[in-house]
Amino acid sequence: MAVESEWEVAVPEKRLKDKLFFENLKSVVIDRNICSRCLTCAAVCPGGITIVDDRVDFPDYERRCMDCGACVRVCPRFVYEPRSGLGHYIQFIAGRSKRFTGQDGAMVTEILVSAMEMGLIDRSLFVSRDERWGTEIFHVRDSEQLELPTLGGTKYTFANVLPELKRAVMLTKSGVGVVGTPCIVSGVRRLQREFPIFKERVKLLVGLFCTENFHYGDITKYLADKGVDFSKLIKTDITKGKFVATMTDGEVKFKVKELESILPSGCQVCTDFTAVESDVSVGSVGSAKGFSTMAVRQENVIKILDFIRENGYADFGDADPAQLDYLINHKKAREKNIPV
Ligand SMILES: Cc1cc2nc3c(=O)[nH]c(=O)nc-3n(C[C@H](O)[C@H](O)[C@H](O)COP(=O)(O)OP(=O)(O)OC[C@H]3O[C@@H](n4cnc5c(N)ncnc54)[C@H](O)[C@@H]3O)c2cc1C
Repeated sequence: MAVESEWEVAVPEKRLKDKLFFENLKSVVIDRNICSRCLTCAAVCPGGITIVDDRVDFPDYERRCMDCGACVRVCPRFVYEPRSGLGHYIQFIAGRSKRFTGQDGAMVTEILVSAMEMGLIDRSLFVSRDERWGTEIFHVRDSEQLELPTLGGTKYTFANVLPELKRAVMLTKSGVGVVGTPCIVSGVRRLQREFPIFKERVKLLVGLFCTENFHYGDITKYLADKGVDFSKLIKTDITKGKFVATMTDGEVKFKVKELESILPSGCQVCTDFTAVESDVSVGSVGSAKGFSTMAVRQENVIKILDFIRENGYADFGDADPAQLDYLINHKKAREKNIPV
């Protein structure tokens, strides 16, 4: 009788028989322009999936792909089950941190730091930026590191969070917190489903509301052409249909619709505005200016918010889910762009 090996794993069927698994990923996801650039594949690829010219690629894959199937097991778009709506939540509230400043109410930062102070996790991955607004990933291990002002706030540029998550789960002793856009959140859930180490060690998953994100080369060129001086840029925001770049000596403002020409193909097929698979989803829309809107989905976050309340670290207020309807529907309509 055949003994099942403990190393044996179930991989999705190859759509292209006799081809390498990466060739399957390339044909089904990358070449069909539905890749979200979440880099879940790169997080587990033992060969060399990486970013080339802002796009997911695997140079010399014909020789270097080990045909292990890890990339197709974790890719949220290989067997794409588009999600949408508000999703399940236990509480829908607004918050504003008294300790930190951020994009809105800095509740993302507050939740992650509080989780560290409670000992639930010992590190969080934050997306920071360099002086040219290229994204950089930081392992934040205590609140003193938050003195680096570039750690909070929104960067409208893809970030290589998930390859770094692999390093974080190797290094952590008590658990890791991650924050990301809906595509990153879905990637983490796939990693947790396929690889137990991610299930055991990723203890907090914060999702961001997201209409779209941009390739670094495209958005920086667009903004430079609009007169944005990156050496003076301190904040970027999308609010009330406008993209606003705030510099030390003024601002550049234009209709976000103008960015349609550089909207990544992977975002054009994304239907998930609220990151429905997260433990808590945080965004701007739905609450008063200066507050973060939170859809709290899991008990771990209820406990963290109790800790924040007990310590008086934040103000809380009402949030209105109906205010998300427009953007939820706007993204749901992108379902029609998914190739059959
Ligand atoms: C690309 C993008 C598009 C968004 N679109 C919308 C929208 O349409 N409507 C809306 O209401 N909200 C949107 N948000 C969320 C919003 O901009 C704020 O991030 C959210 O309100 C949290 O604010 P905060 O003050 O609590 O966060 P902060 O405490 O300032 O923390 C922000 C966190 O975001 C992380 N982060 C920043 N940039 C990225 C990135 N590129 N990828 C992954 N993580 C990142 C940082 O690591 C940090 O932990 C978007 C966010 C992003 C990244």
